[in-house]
Amino acid sequence: MTIDKRLTGGPITPAPRPIAERICICGCGHSFIPSRRDKVYLNNQHANYGYNHGKRKSKNKNRISVEKILLKNDNVLNKHYKSERNTKHVDRHYAILKADGFKFGYHIGKSETDSIEYYYTYNYYYCIFFLDNIKMIKIFKR
Ligand SMILES: [Zn+2]
Repeated sequence: MTIDKRLTGGPITPAPRPIAERICICGCGHSFIPSRRDKVYLNNQHANYGYNHGKRKSKNKNRISVEKILLKNDNVLNKHYKSERNTKHVDRHYAILKADGFKFGYHIGKSETDSIEYYYTYNYYYCIFFLDNIKMIKIFKR
């Protein structure tokens, strides 16, 4: 299947991710890959801004909470996809992803191919199917 480039602005090049991406808590909405697990700001400028300004935080509050969910969803799919090697897609129980904190109401795009609906996260896409009446998710890398 083809992926709508308008969603990403171009091809995504995979990078190694020692720590999962997170959103800077200063309120800017930027995501970053922290060098240490306790890092919560993008850099020192953002840390200073975070201490001194409360306004940007409340203005972007809804957008940031949605982006956090989208990032979390992407991280959950990443974890399951990476846990299996040499495969084009990974099948998982719907309930397992849900237990991992995946929120199915949040995705960045949707497409339909041969009557199958695919939902996009930043680096993955997935479809829902049933195996012996059990709801399953098929995860693909973008
Ligand atoms: Zn920031």
